Amino acid sequence: LCVDQPLAEEQAVALSRDQAHYLFGVMRLERGARVALFNGRDGEWAAEVADAGKRGGTLVCRDRQAAQGTPPDLWLLFAPVKKARTDFIVEKAVEMGVRRILPVQTDFTNSERLRVDKQQAHAVEAAEQCGATFVPEVAEMARLERLLSEWDTTRQILFCDETAAGAPTILGGLEPGPWAVLIGPEGGFSDRERARLAEMDCARAVSLGPRILRAETAAVAALALWQAHLGD
Ligand code: SAM
Repeated sequence: LCVDQPLAEEQAVALSRDQAHYLFGVMRLERGARVALFNGRDGEWAAEVADAGKRGGTLVCRDRQAAQGTPPDLWLLFAPVKKARTDFIVEKAVEMGVRRILPVQTDFTNSERLRVDKQQAHAVEAAEQCGATFVPEVAEMARLERLLSEWDTTRQILFCDETAAGAPTILGGLEPGPWAVLIGPEGGFSDRERARLAEMDCARAVSLGPRILRAETAAVAALALWQAHLGD
């Protein structure tokens, strides 16, 4: 369970109403039961249910079970697609291990608005489910153009482009360091965006193979390939 409070030996942790409902209503845990807790900073703790109520409850941290893990310095930039697919992309990015998730508005992005709070909650659920102790931040949606104009060029960009004929696949030598994977919307990138990325020395166009993948497939494939090459 992910909480937003410090975790340390004998530290009491107050549960929200939703968390209490989940643990005691849905999972039917009782006083004395053990729950794994993390907060993204203090590692994973085995905590014991000290008080189980309908509207709240308290857990007490007993033993630290794992040190705090941090995924490699990889960001995912993606253009939001339909809601269910965007949910899928955020969930899989957490499972695959990224440090930040940045929704970007590109020239052909269809969905102009994104509930960042909902996607952040979704990222928390994904981390809980996959046993990660780290929850990547989901940033506010920003225009790709603006992000690129302020880009810290020490972070390289894997620009996934289905039109990059002859471009290397991602497994061609990647140097260790900070990276970002960039995935476009259903309509792909505009020529203007391609030209802008081509000007940037830190961006490299890569192919994920000869077929046109859906954005969510491309995101998972690119993250998996990057992780296989440079991940932990
Ligand atoms: N523009 C295309 C079209 O409408 O035919 C499709 C874009 S594709 C559905 C969405 C995104 O997935 C692309 O912008 C790209 O980032 C990524 N992608 C899909 N297939 C890819 C491939 N074979 N190689 C690299 N990237 C790919």
